[in-house]
Amino acid sequence: MKAMMLTGLRSLELREAPPPELAAPTDILLKLAVVGVCGSDIHYYTTGKIGSQVVSYPFVVGHECAGIVERVGPAVRRLKPGDRVAVEPAISCGQCDQCRGGRPHTCRALKFLGCPGQAPGCLAEYLVMPEQCCYPLLPALTLEQAALLEPLAIGFYSVRRGGSIKGARIAILGAGPIGLSVLVCARARGAQTIYVSDRIEARVAVARNAGADWAGNPDQVDIVKEISAREPLLLDQVFECCGQQAALDQAIDLLKPGGKLVMVGIPEVERVSFIIDRARRKELDVLNVRRQCECTAPALALLERGVLKADFMITHRFPFDRTKEAFDLVADYRDGVVKALINFLGTTRNH
Ligand SMILES: [Zn+2]
Ligand SMILES: [Zn+2]
Repeated sequence: MKAMMLTGLRSLELREAPPPELAAPTDILLKLAVVGVCGSDIHYYTTGKIGSQVVSYPFVVGHECAGIVERVGPAVRRLKPGDRVAVEPAISCGQCDQCRGGRPHTCRALKFLGCPGQAPGCLAEYLVMPEQCCYPLLPALTLEQAALLEPLAIGFYSVRRGGSIKGARIAILGAGPIGLSVLVCARARGAQTIYVSDRIEARVAVARNAGADWAGNPDQVDIVKEISAREPLLLDQVFECCGQQAALDQAIDLLKPGGKLVMVGIPEVERVSFIIDRARRKELDVLNVRRQCECTAPALALLERGVLKADFMITHRFPFDRTKEAFDLVADYRDGVVKALINFLGTTRNH
């Protein structure tokens, strides 16, 4: 089969690779249909690592995907060849303390697609996944929508981490695909007022169209001043979705006493800091988000019912052999890109 391999910094090559085999009786062989390009793929593409996770070349990245069942193992019951599925990219062991404690996303033996040292990614023609990671799609859902499920599940989980959202006044700092996923999930779950910031003008506009009550660019306006003028009691929750120190500082200033800072973004630096005097006096909760935990099914249910609308995030489509163009576009934040999709079935059809 053909696989798109990272072969160095900013280097992607289409190479021949052995097709994956069904190993366990519950395994499913999928033919990939759509893969979303994620910010974390771009970290590996431009820097070769995320924190301690370092790529050894060649390596296949990609984890946001939807596909069509090609073959199933003898113990597979729910799926058959031809079925369309969304893929949960985290394969957990089910045995360790984390899995048994209801935290499969921090499984000690986690295999996450496209994560160095764990599992190769899905930017290839075929992929084998266990049945429990494959979610069948209702006919109304397209494979492109299904490929948005992973970031949407992270948005759903982030909102769940933040606690009581009904009637809450919140800010989302960073309006990339994850920030926008938090936005649509927070809205669907009953947030009252949502403020959004991003340094890219096109994303500010996208956030406004997607239902933000206010959206602004921190390079042009003082975010803290603007939002606190509208919210004198300040905010219940701030979702930091860009991994920037400046956004963390804004979050501390925007939160009301007892507020929650939900850290979703992946910083490129090793350390971040807070003005502890402010965080401490307000007794803020600081919550880290590690991808998502058991939010794929509820996010999919909301997507199927049309409660979550996410199509607006898809700004670009590329065929498989032009994956590098998609990565360069996303890496350089060009052309108003939010979510670029690799569509194996052809970029003019919306399956
Ligand atoms: Zn992702
Ligand atoms: Zn485990």
